[in-house]
Amino acid sequence: MPIDARAYAAFDAENPLGPWAFQRRDPGPDDVAIDIQWCGICHSDLHVVKNDLGGTRYPLVPGHEIAGLVAAVGANVTRFRVGDRVGVGCMVDSCRQCAPCRAGEEQYCVPGFDQTYGWPDRHADRSGQAMTQGGYSTAIVVDQDFVLRIPDALPLDAAAPLLCAGITTWSPLRHWKVGPGSKVAVIGLGGLGHMAVKLAAALGAEVTVLSTSDRKRDDALRMGAAHFLINSDQAAMKAAAESFDLIINTVSAPHEIAGQVQLLAKDGTMVMLGLNTEGLPVYPLGLLWRRRSVAGSLIGGVAETQEMLDFCAEHGIACDIERIAPDQINEAYARMLKSDVRYRFVIDMSRMPKEALAE
Ligand SMILES: [Zn+2]
Ligand SMILES: [Zn+2]
Repeated sequence: MPIDARAYAAFDAENPLGPWAFQRRDPGPDDVAIDIQWCGICHSDLHVVKNDLGGTRYPLVPGHEIAGLVAAVGANVTRFRVGDRVGVGCMVDSCRQCAPCRAGEEQYCVPGFDQTYGWPDRHADRSGQAMTQGGYSTAIVVDQDFVLRIPDALPLDAAAPLLCAGITTWSPLRHWKVGPGSKVAVIGLGGLGHMAVKLAAALGAEVTVLSTSDRKRDDALRMGAAHFLINSDQAAMKAAAESFDLIINTVSAPHEIAGQVQLLAKDGTMVMLGLNTEGLPVYPLGLLWRRRSVAGSLIGGVAETQEMLDFCAEHGIACDIERIAPDQINEAYARMLKSDVRYRFVIDMSRMPKEALAE
């Protein structure tokens, strides 16, 4: 039987999100049906709702930071049982055959992984939805291979944003082998940045936060940063030159990076995580002088996401969150545009209106 879902959806790029009712596919043998309890609000939700990247089809239910409880499992599902605490992140399937998929890096799937929302739904024949629909809803049905286990030690609400903000920062920290003795800088203390600080500190790195103002200094130190620099402070920047092995750059707005590249030590890397579609000038002279790199990184694979969740449980790490009801999503978007969130909004699905509008 298809599963009724109540949701908050965008109906076009201009108007506020509002209630919507639709159906999830009848779970197949490999599927896990999930009662969603919490869903984080990611900046990319806002970009897709506003059609900033082009190609958005409406109605659109955003949300790829999903935490909930298993409601039903298909006949082939052995790793999950009804009642288990689970999560779903940015991916709901991939080709499973290309080299990245076989290497457990489904996020780099060559034909492209299936995004959790706003992506052609490969189960369209059974779901009745041309496009995938995300987590601002009461239920979702996902193939078991893309379902994560949320350890008991993690609260479901504060764990939800780990499924995007957590893995997006964890993957580069692991790829560039951050550990005891590493010096890591984090540019921007928002949803991604605050997780980068917590995870890098827990991995044993000495963490510095670079910010445009002093506002979040106390938060940064509480999260595990050893130092806090204001990037307009020329003297402080000069003193920090050539000191970092890895700079996690979480800023998505256009900004200057040529000067900040100078903060990298020899063989250091600045990794870009912000969804920036505009150019950022980098000067080769500043790179070649110390064999520096500027790189990008996209979320993380399924196995790596599970590794991150287990690490967070072991180290008592979760996101700093602000809980909201679905009817506060539009207000939350407005506040996010002003960077007025500490540090992630999480939607409480138990407060979804009982009578969502019919399709
Ligand atoms: Zn996201
Ligand atoms: Zn693939």
